[in-house]
Amino acid sequence: CGVFGVIGVTDAANFVALGLHALQHRGQEAGGIVAHDPEKGFNSAHRFGYVRDNFTKASLMETLPGPLAIGHVRYSTAGKKAAVIRDIQPFFGEFSMGGAAIAHNGNLTNAEALRRELIEHGAIFQSGSDSECIIHLMARSFQKTHADRIADALRRCEGAFSVVAMTRTKLIGVRDPLGVRPLVLGRIGDNGYVLSSETCGLDIIGAHFVREIEPGEMVVIQDGKIESARPFHQASPRFCIFEHVYFSRPDSIIGGRSVYETRRQIGVELAREAPVEADLVCPVPDSGTPAAIGFSQESGIPFALGITRNQYMGRTFIEPTEQIRNMGVRLKLNVNKSLVKGKRVILVDDSVVRGTTSRKIKEMILDAGAAEVHFRIASPPTAWPCFYGVDTPDRNKLLAAKMTEDEMRDWIGVDSLKFISLDGLYRAAGEANGRNNACPQYCDACFSGEYPVVPSDQIEKGFEM
Ligand code: 5GP
Ligand code: SF4
Ligand code: MG
Repeated sequence: CGVFGVIGVTDAANFVALGLHALQHRGQEAGGIVAHDPEKGFNSAHRFGYVRDNFTKASLMETLPGPLAIGHVRYSTAGKKAAVIRDIQPFFGEFSMGGAAIAHNGNLTNAEALRRELIEHGAIFQSGSDSECIIHLMARSFQKTHADRIADALRRCEGAFSVVAMTRTKLIGVRDPLGVRPLVLGRIGDNGYVLSSETCGLDIIGAHFVREIEPGEMVVIQDGKIESARPFHQASPRFCIFEHVYFSRPDSIIGGRSVYETRRQIGVELAREAPVEADLVCPVPDSGTPAAIGFSQESGIPFALGITRNQYMGRTFIEPTEQIRNMGVRLKLNVNKSLVKGKRVILVDDSVVRGTTSRKIKEMILDAGAAEVHFRIASPPTAWPCFYGVDTPDRNKLLAAKMTEDEMRDWIGVDSLKFISLDGLYRAAGEANGRNNACPQYCDACFSGEYPVVPSDQIEKGFEM
């Protein structure tokens, strides 16, 4: 998901709509905006579909006046059934000290236990979302301010959360102690501040990057001033390394590092770790493109666009059903036949999850007459599900959980298949000495099986770490 908030500008909701549009890659199912105006109070809109199809209509935006607004773009994570409009964030609650709205990116790993407890104590849930727990926990807190209640609530939450919240007068941002999901702070105009999942959300509205919200930090912004607090136990950060590989936009800056440059460097590492003789390096667009550029630069094998992506399709994996996902590959990608005919082709993709994409692409590229097909993958084998906000399927659907690398190569049906090593990935992400195995610098649970936060709901349901 993507979260965004603005304070101290005229018609903040318009800025939020633009910010969410820049964060659309983080969730394409639905979007929502809550705005507050001193005269007209809180107003909100929640819609299925793309931001550009909903929040560009003057008739809708006129209903969201005021200098303070937050928003959310959503994609449902593992286990969620067909979405309902009540699941769309931001969520709103009335408290004794006034209303507040929250938008959450990440996934709470103890949400089911919390929900049971809250329902037993009288909470009436409106949605199926884990994030709604935060509002109910706030309602049960005895703290005097919204911010303190949010801190109280989040101290009971486990897992990953980057939260953007608002009251009538304040914009609030929080990151979980490990800082699994991103959140950055920007400045706009004379008195305005912005919170965004990624820096590309600042760029689109001409805001200036100030800094990242730190892991475990809470910022409260009001009247052009920022207060910072540390409401949680100190922990060593474990940012999601898959944000670098796939999830974030390549023009975003994370941890002072360009996502594009990390992806290009992954390609360089891959070319060193797993060289192969071939005629062309082709990305599986768009997510494989920077790594393919790096692979080509390092190996000297020409880069070519052997596959064209239909720009009007979304990200395949965000489509929730298997059937749509299967069709998706062909609807989204097409092979440039005359280019690959008779050639030995290296295909670079960001990840192999179920293997659906790789297998379909191999078929298409062999149909086009390629002489050889070699897959190079910009992440290690995805052998474990993510419980922190990225939609990986159950373990039994993950190709790498069932097969060795050679078995995967044969199942996909290619001449060779190589994944970047975990150390190579860390080097590409700027860790010159690779992964510190005693205390890893990132979360990499979907590759290593080492979960930095115990996924307690899952364990209760029989998941074995
Ligand atoms: P597969 O077809 O192997 O299930 O999915 C791999 C493709 O989905 C890759 O091209 C990749 O861009 C995209 N993808 C990236 N991350 C994820 C993820 O977390 N889950 C899923 N299902 N697909 C992803
Ligand atoms: Fe990111 Fe993977 Fe960790 Fe999930 S398990 S937070 S996708 S590194
Ligand atoms: Mg892809």
